[in-house]
Amino acid sequence: MNEPIWRSIIDDGKDNGITDAEKQQVMSESEPDVEEQQRRIAQELARKRAARQAAEHKRIMKNRLIAVCALVGVVVLAVVAVKAAGGSSKDVKTASSAMSAEAQTKTSGKKADSSSSAPEKQPEPEHKIEQTNGMTFVDDILIVNKTYSLPRDYAPGVSEVAVNAFNRMSAAAAEDGISLWINSSYRSYEEQEALYNSYVEERDRDEADKVSSRPGHSEHQTGLAFDVNDTSFEFEDTDAAGWLREHCCEYGFIIRFPEGKEAFTGYSYEPWHIRYLGKKIATEVTESGLSLEEYLGITSEYPKEDSGEQSSTSEQE
Ligand SMILES: [Zn+2]
Repeated sequence: MNEPIWRSIIDDGKDNGITDAEKQQVMSESEPDVEEQQRRIAQELARKRAARQAAEHKRIMKNRLIAVCALVGVVVLAVVAVKAAGGSSKDVKTASSAMSAEAQTKTSGKKADSSSSAPEKQPEPEHKIEQTNGMTFVDDILIVNKTYSLPRDYAPGVSEVAVNAFNRMSAAAAEDGISLWINSSYRSYEEQEALYNSYVEERDRDEADKVSSRPGHSEHQTGLAFDVNDTSFEFEDTDAAGWLREHCCEYGFIIRFPEGKEAFTGYSYEPWHIRYLGKKIATEVTESGLSLEEYLGITSEYPKEDSGEQSSTSEQE
């Protein structure tokens, strides 16, 4: 197959009277041409090979360029996507700050669920609710209200820490010419039960609920709550009440049932009832202007099945 075409022509001419000498001559004469031709072919092949290599090189470079472009594109898209995600979360925050406190808590809850892996987000703090031995701690704060109660056998007595804080506070108040004293402090479950039942006998359950806590639901059972001075509404306008409102957080106390917060605390304004939380949290809660329930995102409502509605209705009938 590699046989040049002239050789087959000469071979074919064998029967056409071409002599061997003539053949030899042609062949010898053709020899330089053949060499020339082969050289040209070789050159041509080399040229083609070079062109092919060049084309191949070009193709590889083109592919590399495409790959680099694609990589750059992916990186750019990723950066844009991250920026867009950051921007949209800011939008959500801005929007939610216009919502009510409750709605905001819900939004941030959803946000935390849907994107818990995003580290740069700092949504509203979620409150940790723990229940141990019938007691409820919200962000490590022992909570007692209409929703959360204490077991009958929880009887810690008055908190020494809270009493010491009160004594420091009353000493400071005395320097300002204000007299503060503890009217009522720790109350056991049984004491609260007797007190509440006496109110129920006097009035009815609905009326009793307005002035007294059901047993297990009184903050006095924690040993961390005090009624200061006079537990009547005359106390509200005294200098002592004013001093207490202004300074109690400096000693770790809050006015537990502030004015205008009945919907959250479940109790009307009690200017005399203070609760020990420690200076840091008491100051935070006071400065927030929120009730403890709002601050911790919790409710204060007696359970439906346990409410006085039915019994009071049946009593009326
Ligand atoms: Zn009280």
